[in-house]
Parts: sequence; C-alpha cells; structure tokens
Amino acid sequence: MRSHLLNDTTAERYRRSVTEGIERVAAKLATTDRPFTGVTVDALAPRIERIDLDKPLYDTTAVLDELEDVYLRDAVYFHHPRYLAHLNCPVVIPAVLGEAVLSAVNSSLDTWDQSAGGTLIERKLIDWTTERIGLGPAADGVFTSGGTQSNLQALLLAREEAKPGRAGWETSASHAKLRIFASEVSHFSVKKSAKLLGLSQDSVVSIPVGHDKRMQTVVLARELERCKRDGLVPMAVVATAGTTDFGSIDPLPEIADLCEQFGAWMHVDAAYGCGLLTSLKNRHRIDGIERADSVTVDYHKSFFQPVSSSAVLVRDAATLRHATYHAEYLNPRRMVQERIPNQVDKSLQTTRRFDALKLWMTLRVMGADGIGRLFDDVCDLAEAGWKLIAADPRYDVVVEPSLSTLVFRYIPAAVTDPSVIDRANLYARKALFASGDAVVAGTKVGGRHFLKFTLLNPETTTDDISAVLDLIAGHAEQYLGESLDRAS
Ligand SMILES: *Cc1c(COP(=O)(O)O)cnc(C)c1O
Repeated sequence: MRSHLLNDTTAERYRRSVTEGIERVAAKLATTDRPFTGVTVDALAPRIERIDLDKPLYDTTAVLDELEDVYLRDAVYFHHPRYLAHLNCPVVIPAVLGEAVLSAVNSSLDTWDQSAGGTLIERKLIDWTTERIGLGPAADGVFTSGGTQSNLQALLLAREEAKPGRAGWETSASHAKLRIFASEVSHFSVKKSAKLLGLSQDSVVSIPVGHDKRMQTVVLARELERCKRDGLVPMAVVATAGTTDFGSIDPLPEIADLCEQFGAWMHVDAAYGCGLLTSLKNRHRIDGIERADSVTVDYHKSFFQPVSSSAVLVRDAATLRHATYHAEYLNPRRMVQERIPNQVDKSLQTTRRFDALKLWMTLRVMGADGIGRLFDDVCDLAEAGWKLIAADPRYDVVVEPSLSTLVFRYIPAAVTDPSVIDRANLYARKALFASGDAVVAGTKVGGRHFLKFTLLNPETTTDDISAVLDLIAGHAEQYLGESLDRAS
C-alpha cells in the first residue's frame, strides 16, 4: 500500500495516475455536447449507493471507469456555453495547473513552517488585490474559502470595532444594540453572519432597492438617523458590488459618505463585482470601493478560478487582530516579535489550502488584463442579451445589467393570470434542466417567479442566448397548452 504514497519513490505512479485522470477529463470536456445529461436523483442515487466502500477495486483505471458512471457522465459542466445558471465560471488552465501543484505539494498556509514561499506568495496577491482596490498603505487581508466566510470575518471585525471608542460610541455597546444595514437583495450570508456573531434577530436592517436594484441611499440615511435616535449602534453597512440576483452595484460613494458621517464600518461585498478590478473598460463602475473598511472578493466567481478561491481585504491591517489567537504548538506570541509570518494569525481557518497559487499562475501566465478581457466579454454579452430580451415580445426583462446577469420571465400575450405565468416559468426551468439542453437559474422579483441567466462564459454567444430563449418559450408554451387542455 505504500506505493500509493506520493514521495520520492513513487514519482512514476503519480505521473501515470494523474495523467490518466487528466486524459479522462480532457476527453470528457471535448465530447460534452450539453451542460447536463438531465439525470434525476432517483436514477443516480442507486448507482452510488450500490458501491461498497469497504470493497476497493485496487486499480486506478477501474476506479476511473466507475467514476465515469457515478460522476463524470452526469456532472453539470460549467464550461459548456449553455450553462447560464449560477455564479460559476469556466476555469482558466493556468489556475487548474496551480490546483494540481498545490494539492500535490499540499502546503498549509496557517504557518510559515508549513508553507514558506506559499505564505509570501499569498501575501503578495493580497497586496496586489488591495492595490487594485485602492485600500491604501495599511491594508491587508487573507484568502478564505469563499464569500460567505469573507463576509463573516469582515463582520466579525466590524463588530469588534463597533465597541468602545469608535466614532463617538464611548460605552461598550452590547451585541443586542448593534445594527447592520444591507440592501434587501444583499447576500443571505450577511444574515447568517449576524446570527453566528450573536447579534439580535433584528440586527440586519433591510434597505429597499430602487427599480435598478441598487440600495436606496435616501432610505439608508433615514435608517441610520433612526438607529442613532433609538440609541442603537450602526455597526456596519454592507454595500453589495454585484448582487447575486441582478449584478446591481450599490452606490458606493454615497454609502461611503454615510458610513463616515455615522461612524459605521463600510463593508463592500464584491464577491461577484470584483471581476471589474481587472476590467479594461468598466472599472469605474465600482468607484468608491477604495473607501471601504473591508472588501469581499470571490476569485472563483469572476476571475475564472476553480472553487475555492476568495479573500477578505481590510483597510487597516491592525483590525485583523480580532481574529488572532495564539497556540503554543502552532503560532506562539513570540513569533510575532520574531517577525515570522503566520497567516493563521489573520484567518478564521487553521489548516488552509494554498488557493492563492491558482491566482498566481493565472496572473503570471495570462496577466490581469487577460482576466479583465474575459470579464469584459461577458459583460458585453449581457448587454447584447439584454437588448435581445427587451426586444422580444415573449419576455419581460427586469433591469439593464451592470455586470453579467439577466433576470427575465416569459409572459404569454394570451395569459393574464399571474400565478399561471409563474407556473409556466417554473415549469420551463425544470423542463429545460431535465432536457440538459441548457441550465438557467430562477429567482423571485416582487413575489413573482423569474428566470435568470448568469453569464460568465466568454464562449457563450448571442446565438446561444436566442436559442435558449426559444427553448424556454417552447417548454412554457407546452405547459400552457397542457394546462389549458386540462382546464377544458
Ligand atoms: C456568491 C456570493 C456570496 C457567497 O460567496 P461563496 O463563495 O458562495 O461563499 C456572497 N456575496 C455575494 C454578493 C455573492 O454573490
């Protein structure tokens, strides 16, 4: 069994084994003609269930054959141009190469003595990101598992900073008094974080958005006033730069002004909109982000990186101390004096992947402009798609895209009952998924069911969009035909 350990004597097995796996995936990618096979849970579950994990096959080739059956054949493929559903991107090859290297070397980024160069590479990428944002000379940050964790950590720092002293709050405010302001279409991880941070149930104040799905800062100002009047503490405002549902970007400069005025921590959730940091023509859309106290970026959404790759960045490195604990066996306090860089001092995680290497490889091979061009392409595609849908009498589209998302619904001319229209759209999404021809997402707007394209594949064309719109209309019409038959 020792022949399975990766070491100096097994290099040949490693090479053969990994190459064989890569060949399978490469063949799969080359021959996948749909984003999904449409397999059902009921069809797939027994295939996985009948495998006895206590009866190994002892043979890599046989296991890869089996993997075809339980995973590869029916996986949802994000690289396919008709995968238009969630915030998943096709990945760039330098990043996948980075992934292969980082898992083989298996550095852990918690301490210098488990990573060495990995720590310095991560730190350089953090600096690169804070410079792109414009957070200033005292900025810092750390890679995380995703936007959810980044938001949690940012709000932890905000909670600690909201305690005595900050912006006129002399007394220690109990957690019950802390308030977070976020738009009604902010990510649900804001509420989850508030819960994890022990804040009260009504700690997250939901600020309405306008028809453009951006936070109404007039209401934010009013709510901040009210918060102060009620003797509560405005702990943080979460501005979303690229909402998950619409890609809308909250008015960052106005929000920054209000945060300054009310002494609230400004967190910018740019999990999605961070792609604009490399954009060659749309960077200005996130102007104001440089005034944030903390920023969430998800490289695994708009930097074409494999899951997971994310970071939380802060204006003031000193605020990261709120996540610092020292363990004698790992990162004793004296190491700080010795200037040994232990990233665990800044992180909620302990053992941690060297995800930064993927971004490093990407920047070294393609350059930031290379990523920016890809992201600009999908933003252009969304603009073209918006024009297509807006001109299509079969559809209603919600808002002109700020990034690469389109939210729309099928509205048959002959049907006026809104619940029937809801059901037709729900049915169309399901039927499309079952067909495997394309994958789209869905959401609710104003209580009604809508469909959603999240465009992150530069290989998707307007022809793909047109074709998918026709497919959706076909399924919806079929549903309406059948439900009319049933009614008569
Ligand atoms: C996706 C997303 C998150 C959560 O990020 P994960 O990487 O999925 O944990 C947070 N905020 C926004 C705006 C997002 O789109």
